Amino acid sequence: MVEVRGVRKSFGGVEVLHGIDLTVAAGEVTVILGPSGSGKSTLLRAINHLERPDAGLVRVDGALMGLRRVGGRLHELRERAVLRQRARIGFVFQNFHLFPHLTALENVAEAPVGALRRPRARARREAAALLDRVGLGDRLDAYPRQLSGGQQQRVAIARALALSPRVLLFDEPTSALDPELVGEVLTVIRDLARGGTTMLVVTHEMGFAREIADTVVFMDQGRIVEQGPPDAVLDRPRHPRTRAFLAQVR
Ligand code: ADP
Ligand code: MG
Repeated sequence: MVEVRGVRKSFGGVEVLHGIDLTVAAGEVTVILGPSGSGKSTLLRAINHLERPDAGLVRVDGALMGLRRVGGRLHELRERAVLRQRARIGFVFQNFHLFPHLTALENVAEAPVGALRRPRARARREAAALLDRVGLGDRLDAYPRQLSGGQQQRVAIARALALSPRVLLFDEPTSALDPELVGEVLTVIRDLARGGTTMLVVTHEMGFAREIADTVVFMDQGRIVEQGPPDAVLDRPRHPRTRAFLAQVR
């Protein structure tokens, strides 16, 4: 479902992804761990082309992201075409990124109307059903400022689901939450994982990582240092840097 090959990315002449290879099969959950600054967010953003890789390829559900093959040659796609490709990938940010002037329902219905040209009445019906699924069926008309962080993040998850994405990317979805609000968001993500949604999740919640991951990937300094099943990587890490990181977060 997701294939990353040789992806490199630099900012201002400093390379922060040094050739990443990663595969996520359909229905699988990959959890990415690693210290701050190791390139986790940049990797997620490169997958949906919020950052264009300087080198390498990303394929999502068969589509080559940001590129088009013409007579055996690859050409860069224009931003509008990249936007269409990006609609297949749901992205949930650390800080929710909801529109403050729109209600929960409008936040979720907005993308299907804008990007998929879905009739507004149908988009609102589907948005209401998605909000119900994340436990917010009674807060459809609330504005983000009237919702807790946990509720806002659940709206953001419903919004990501509204485009029927092939893949969901989560970038530290609970890092901005008060501790007592983390559980309700993890519950929603866990349900999606059990329902067979393909996802990549950056998180520091170790218990959660162990529970939902089919594969755990450990990144450090722009490279994948180690990857494997959760019990292997979390209980028997082979690389000293993985060991040092796990010793700190536990
Ligand atoms: P992580 O998510 O693992 O904390 P990031 O992917 O955010 O790491 O960052 C990796 C490195 O790239 C860091 O050194 C960060 O400062 C740098 N970086 C990320 N985004 C940008 C940007 N837009 N401009 C310049 N440097 C960036
Ligand atoms: Mg990050």
